[in-house]
Amino acid sequence: MKTFQTISGLRSALQPLRNEELSIGFVPTMGALHQGHLELMRRAKSENDILVVSIFVNPIQFNNPEDLEKYPRLPELDAHLLETVDCDFLFAPTVEEMYPEPDHSNYDFGVLGQVMEGAFRPGHFNGVAIVVRKLFEITEPNRAYFGEKDFQQLAIIQQLVKMLQLSVEIVPCPIVRESDGLAMSSRNMRLAKEERSVAPKIHQILKKAASLKNVLSPEEMRRYVWDKLSLEPAFSIDYVEVADDRMLQPVKHWNEVGGAVIFVALFLGQVRLIDNQRIF
Ligand code: AMP
Repeated sequence: MKTFQTISGLRSALQPLRNEELSIGFVPTMGALHQGHLELMRRAKSENDILVVSIFVNPIQFNNPEDLEKYPRLPELDAHLLETVDCDFLFAPTVEEMYPEPDHSNYDFGVLGQVMEGAFRPGHFNGVAIVVRKLFEITEPNRAYFGEKDFQQLAIIQQLVKMLQLSVEIVPCPIVRESDGLAMSSRNMRLAKEERSVAPKIHQILKKAASLKNVLSPEEMRRYVWDKLSLEPAFSIDYVEVADDRMLQPVKHWNEVGGAVIFVALFLGQVRLIDNQRIF
């Protein structure tokens, strides 16, 4: 694996490969890698000639300075894990390399950007769009892999690609979970032992709720999840939504939508967790 910190370094390494018409699979991450990330990478490697991974903790997508400061950074361990998935190129730029000047681009994702993470984390998706666009311009991938763990982010990226008519194919990848059901996340390592032991309840409750589709209306299902989560005193809920799987708007009647997903965001101690579960 070759590691680059500069845009010019990575570009000049990739150009000859592109000239040979080798395909590039790209996985953007913020590091502190886990099996969820590695699954995206294995898939990217199997579907492309070259695997490029970026590790960049993008400051402009953090609306909470403490979250940015406490975000785990484990470069040596990450490098080792990247070797295990046969990563070809790691791009690990500094903040100065990515933002020599502040980027004031402003993206409007309409209603998709106004709900859930868009409402609770102002500026978050704009920061995501700025960095992902930049990373796409640098790596010019044929395919880029994103996890359904961040379902709304994935929808935003798909919309960004359509809006800008980019030629990259976005490949959605299923959520990878711990054996007890907790969705893998770099933030999980910040959970205290007692917090970690109650965290799997999120998935258990979402799964149970989704199985009640034939007996609950969308609003009843939303309330069911809210009420069950509220029984755990360690959870402090940001939102619970039952939304369609395209524009992620609240569902009124099941028969109005082609697919529906339950979304939840909550704090467990100082750590903010998100998860989702497809209903159909
Ligand atoms: P992050 O490093 O958290 O920005 O995540 C980088 C990519 O990995 C994003 O596309 C995430 O959606 C994806 N990802 C993170 N956790 C998981 C998971 N548990 N399962 C599947 N994909 C994930």
